[in-house]
Amino acid sequence: DLEIALKVVIVGNGAVGKSSMIQRYCRGTFTRDYKKTIGVDFLERQIECNGEDVRLMLWDTAGQEEFDAITKAYYRGAQACVLAFSTTDRDSFEAIHSWKIKVEDECGKIPTVIVQNKVDLIERSQVDPQEVDILARSLGCKLICTSVKDDVNVNNVFRYLATRCLME
Ligand code: GDP
Ligand code: MG
Repeated sequence: DLEIALKVVIVGNGAVGKSSMIQRYCRGTFTRDYKKTIGVDFLERQIECNGEDVRLMLWDTAGQEEFDAITKAYYRGAQACVLAFSTTDRDSFEAIHSWKIKVEDECGKIPTVIVQNKVDLIERSQVDPQEVDILARSLGCKLICTSVKDDVNVNNVFRYLATRCLME
């Protein structure tokens, strides 16, 4: 039967764990070394979702997010989005709204999830759970808390987005 391919963009400030999340999900690996990029445009993983074969293509930003220079090619044709911030980086939390606007400007309204990563470092948290909930609610997005390091909830992020896309 038909295979569905979905382009997913993962945006957020530098160092929140975007590349790590893509690597974790597609290759099953995690590295502590700071890596600016995974060196390719995207990695992919195939899953079954509601009885359908879904090929998820997870696009990485190669570090351009630091220069606010993400190109239109990155966003082009994206069908789902991860807005990621880090538990230990308040600026990355405060940037979520503007990342959502950037994606919407290029892609329109697409299934989107807010990811609070690095929850393994919760004792060093710079965000209050309540304000995170309020932000997610005000942006109309589901919130998923992850630890890419400990492999907590990463699969759920992409399963949720695939399910949402199949409903469209
Ligand atoms: P990106 O700039 O958003 O792509 O971030 P990276 O994937 O390069 O990750 C930045 C740093 O955070 C790296 O040192 C990762 O090993 C680390 N990192 C990523 N996810 C987690 C996590 O869930 N917990 C912890 N403790 N560190 C993480
Ligand atoms: Mg990266």
